[in-house]
Amino acid sequence: MADYIYTLETRLTPDQQKAVTLVQDAAKAAEMNLYLTGGAIRDIITGFPIRDIDFTVQGNALKLQKELERAGAVVGDADDETKSLLLTLPGNVRAEIAMARSERYEKTGKPPQITPATIIEDLRRRDFTVNAMALSLNEGSRGLLMDPFNGAADIEAKLVRVLHNYGFIEDPSRLIRATRFAARFHWPLEERTQQRYNAAKENGYIEYIRNAAIGHEIEQLAYEDDPLSILKAYEKEGWLKVLNAHWSSAKVDTVGLSALMKTRQQMNELGYTPEVAPAVLYFLTSRLGDKDVSDIRKAIPRKDLVEAWKDLEDNAKELSKRLSGKEAATPSRTWQLLSSARPEMILFLAVTARQQAVVQKIKNFFTKWRQVQQKIPLPEMTELHITAQLPQYPKIANDVFLMLLDGKLRSRTETLKYLKPLAPPPPPPPPPPPAKRGRGAKAAVAPAPAPTGAKGKGKAVAVTAPVALAQASAKVKGKPAAPAAPAPPKPEAATKLTAAEKGKQGKAPAQKNPYKPAKPAVKTKSKPKGKKKR
Ligand code: ATP
Ligand code: MG
Repeated sequence: MADYIYTLETRLTPDQQKAVTLVQDAAKAAEMNLYLTGGAIRDIITGFPIRDIDFTVQGNALKLQKELERAGAVVGDADDETKSLLLTLPGNVRAEIAMARSERYEKTGKPPQITPATIIEDLRRRDFTVNAMALSLNEGSRGLLMDPFNGAADIEAKLVRVLHNYGFIEDPSRLIRATRFAARFHWPLEERTQQRYNAAKENGYIEYIRNAAIGHEIEQLAYEDDPLSILKAYEKEGWLKVLNAHWSSAKVDTVGLSALMKTRQQMNELGYTPEVAPAVLYFLTSRLGDKDVSDIRKAIPRKDLVEAWKDLEDNAKELSKRLSGKEAATPSRTWQLLSSARPEMILFLAVTARQQAVVQKIKNFFTKWRQVQQKIPLPEMTELHITAQLPQYPKIANDVFLMLLDGKLRSRTETLKYLKPLAPPPPPPPPPPPAKRGRGAKAAVAPAPAPTGAKGKGKAVAVTAPVALAQASAKVKGKPAAPAAPAPPKPEAATKLTAAEKGKQGKAPAQKNPYKPAKPAVKTKSKPKGKKKR
């Protein structure tokens, strides 16, 4: 049997893995059986990117809401009818947790009768065979794949096969879904599925689509990697006007959309992962009237997505204003401002900004300024023992980078002159050979070797012996590691300027060696005395 858990763990991003663990823990605490379902399993098998994670629990998923919120989840929607939650988990991981349910359709266009069910019954209510698999995340059966409709074989054959004869009639949104999957994967509909699809289409069953399904499908469109091609496929099939009567590909800002996707790709390559869906919706609906945009917003179930879409323009305007002001007067300040801005905002502004100066600053942030990093003299820093092992290293590296950006350090010589006073003292000599047996206890309290820095000589000794010895030997063992590439490119390395730092921006600050004074030793010396007094 294929080891799906291994595949799962290797295919999920680290944030998605954490999300799975988080949901697992919550379900376990609530004593509910948990399964991975839907597209995630299909994508694990196919090798396509896993876009969102669909979980199914045997029990009421709404009961997990509080626990998940405590762990940092944002709830985009809680559906009382299906007892399911739409979540954004830490790290921007999209997930749905639904109650395992069975659905009975009694009349076309009417909502199905929903009853809590087992996972196997739940798989029966799904749309296509490739989407009707479940992977157990429960102790004892973890990794067991349930595939009652042989979806794995259809994945192998690259076919979209509807689960039931009446699948498209019971829920006509599956017509739209079939178009979406066929267009995304370039998989054809299986022959009989195609016949049923054609029949349902000809008979106009789409008019029975439910509003909730319209909202869900619009939302899904926003998360597609190539939303325009899906939108065009919808248009060709006549589904786009089902989602909104006035929607067409002519209403899309295709230039903006393609610039957005291109910039997103460039940002991904630099390690940023902005959530692009709100901006995708912005461009997909650019030329639709306000009423239509408002209808679309109302239909989308994920409220956090809608809010982010609504806020795009205002947030971008604000960032643009800051980039045009004093806060971004120098390259280093602009760097820091952009490093602390949300990647979504930078992305949207990069594509929509009209002011040349703002456009140029964002461009520099992504290209030219990153190359300044190569001017940081790493080999010389290693020689100076300024390496990633030092707690001060990130700050030193960042400061050098910012000064290089601003042209305050103009040559290697100037950079080294700045760095030299920051070098730690060379490592102390090896500790004396261990004391002879029998005198162990006394030897242990013998002074630890003092740091060899001129002023520290003979002073930093009074810490209690075992600690001092441990520290000293750790220092001797710890050879300076090669310096890691310092500060800049990681988005997380964003640091905000403190007021004091802002004041210092004018010139390179005079450096004090942070390692020099061995004064703490004096303090430690006096401690035992104080204790005795008490
Ligand atoms: P994607 O990669 O777009 O997320 P997905 O298959 O996960 O694809 P979702 O819309 O996230 O699609 O739905 C999750 C799962 O829920 C589906 O895989 C399918 O099993 C089930 N599902 C969703 N919509 C329907 C529907 N209209 N009818 C039956 N099952 C559905
Ligand atoms: Mg999904």
